[in-house]
Amino acid sequence: MPKPRPLVAGNWKMNGSKASAAELGKILQGAGETAGKVDLMVCPPATLILAFAAATRDSPVQIGGQDCHAEPAGAFTGDISAEMLADAGAVAAIVGHSERRTYHKETDAEVRAKARAALRAGLTAIVCIGETREEREAHKTLDVVALQLDGSLPDGATAANVVVAYEPVWAIGTGLTPTPADVADVHGFIRRRLAERFGAEGEGIRILYGGSVKPANAKELMAVAEVNGALVGGASLKADDFLGIAAAYRD
Ligand code: PEP
Repeated sequence: MPKPRPLVAGNWKMNGSKASAAELGKILQGAGETAGKVDLMVCPPATLILAFAAATRDSPVQIGGQDCHAEPAGAFTGDISAEMLADAGAVAAIVGHSERRTYHKETDAEVRAKARAALRAGLTAIVCIGETREEREAHKTLDVVALQLDGSLPDGATAANVVVAYEPVWAIGTGLTPTPADVADVHGFIRRRLAERFGAEGEGIRILYGGSVKPANAKELMAVAEVNGALVGGASLKADDFLGIAAAYRD
């Protein structure tokens, strides 16, 4: 399986309004510089998906959701199904982000059900995993990552329908990042585990690094073996920073 084309995806979290179309416009203006070298995706809040999908049609930028319900429809007030995201023009859904695991107590089994729903709706599931600071300090990082991977990834994952995002919880929004050597250890471990479970497809599943990626550290982090792009939170809200991260793949 050839090396997967990298993906830089921006998770806007609960940020953005209609006026954010201007920032998306700036991303679209700059996206041509890296087209063909890196895939770009913006995951805005659900309220903006329809408008953003329309604005990015026929562009190199794709739109994703930040979460989905496991069921396709029904009495689940406030929830949004994977089918609804697809209907609005999203091509992917982030599932199992640490903020959902923490604030909504989502378990690996729930994350797996959501990932399955994403696949059912024809979306790519971007499945997030990662250890807490306490787990890292207790040298449990690989054990935690293994359990989350095994429990959160759906059977039938392929290079086309699943992306794994390794996001150490302690690195999200803190300005802290693991060393490139630590990232290499974890990504290498994830790659081996994906290949064991999914064979050749597992060799092609993209493994993103996430956690305080900025233009200043992107080149170093994206150069690490088995890092196939980034999931970016805070820095994805500014077009210049988001494009500055994607620029790690420009040359
Ligand atoms: C995230 O929440 O997915 C993330 C990586 O956030 P940040 O880039 O702000 O650390």
